[in-house]
Amino acid sequence: MGGLFGAVSTGDCVTDVYFGTDYHSHLGTSKGGLAFWTEEGFNRSIHNIENTQFRARFEDELAGIKSSMGIGCISDREPQPLTVYSHLGRYAIATVGRINNADNLVKKSFQTPNIHFMEINKGRFNQTELVSVIIDGQETFKDGLLAVQESVEGSCSVLLLTPQGIYACRDKLGRTPLIIGKKEVEETNGTVTLSHCVTFESCTLTNLDYKTVYELGPGEIVLLTKEGIEKIAPPRDKMRICAFLWVYYGYPSSTYEGMNVEMMRYKNGAALSRRDDAEADMVAGIPDSGVAHAIGYSNESKIPYSRPFVKYTPTWARSFTPQSKELRSLVARMKLMPIPELIMGKRLLFCDDSIVRGTQMRETVNLLYRCYAKEVHIRSACPPILFNCKYLNFSDSRSESDLATRRSIKRLEGRDLEDPAEYGNPCNEKYCAMVKDIGRELNFTSLRYQNVDDMLDAIGIGAENICTYCWTGKE
Ligand code: SF4
Repeated sequence: MGGLFGAVSTGDCVTDVYFGTDYHSHLGTSKGGLAFWTEEGFNRSIHNIENTQFRARFEDELAGIKSSMGIGCISDREPQPLTVYSHLGRYAIATVGRINNADNLVKKSFQTPNIHFMEINKGRFNQTELVSVIIDGQETFKDGLLAVQESVEGSCSVLLLTPQGIYACRDKLGRTPLIIGKKEVEETNGTVTLSHCVTFESCTLTNLDYKTVYELGPGEIVLLTKEGIEKIAPPRDKMRICAFLWVYYGYPSSTYEGMNVEMMRYKNGAALSRRDDAEADMVAGIPDSGVAHAIGYSNESKIPYSRPFVKYTPTWARSFTPQSKELRSLVARMKLMPIPELIMGKRLLFCDDSIVRGTQMRETVNLLYRCYAKEVHIRSACPPILFNCKYLNFSDSRSESDLATRRSIKRLEGRDLEDPAEYGNPCNEKYCAMVKDIGRELNFTSLRYQNVDDMLDAIGIGAENICTYCWTGKE
């Protein structure tokens, strides 16, 4: 994944861009970058944030920078923002999304003489550089951004900083959000400083004293300047915002399309409980995103909420993500600390945001049994994941055959299925067989999944506006 933040002000915006970008740290673990427009041109820096938090990396170098316009990004893949000097002028650019047809777009770009790419790493093109080449192929920034929307298969939201202002362009189908904020501050000398920002996570706005102006519609493009917001291209009709924003990776205090993440999780957990008949002594959530689903479940079922696990956070950087699979699971296990007094002899019901491979969950459950849990019931806040995401760069590191569902289907069918969609239908016997098999494989007392309709109801913005591809396989 990744996150974006940008601000334009009649005063100085460096602190806002620094903290605004930092508030996207949960969306990416690899690179952080900032670019400011200053009197000397662009001041840009990019750092590796795998083992160090974003704030610590940038804190020292921001001292002394003065700027009224800047953008920042957190990235899971390529280093960015990139700074470019083309026939369109000077600009800095950052993107969020995934380009599935990158090879074709690169080939196509070579039809124009003298095009080159400078940011290739480990044989991979830098997605943001490719986007800048597409933009440079047009006569204006507006046409360039529209060309990106037309040509990219996957998804792509863009922030583009020019000496005149920041272009904010939301992905054509709005898979990820972009929200505009505004603040006016009366200075001691009576003048008013006017600032506008654009952010992926709306939760950045409150602490930075911005008020929400509005959320860009799918494909909408605006230009933020010191004077205000200029509409460049209108929103499109069709939207497919990612449901996983609410279920798993969006920040609890953020709101997308009018629905707050934490509130959605309460509603979702409550709906899960209404269809459940499990008898348990306590409900708990797997930290972090499982917690709010579990609170919703507990409030509805009247089974008390408890914390048989707490996270040990003082010494683990959130972004610490070791490369090896074994070390990753070890770190995940070491971060969670059980409270044996709450576990021994108890029937526990845990809500988690999702079950992907299930390996980490099996380790967690085994730890609970080692602490003498009597029963461990697992409830997944989303339906069984049957397909890898092809719109965001979420599931790059895994093959579909690694999914807990696909492994189970292979056990049940004796082979891999090309289209396992029937296993996603809760009314189908095959679905029931798969859920039973996964529960057995992962050593759960019982397992239930949320169904697609209840999850969509909990999001509450109209099923037709939401992407559910990873559960249904439908685009
Ligand atoms: S496929 Fe899944 S993760 Fe990807 S955009 Fe759709 S809902 Fe989100």
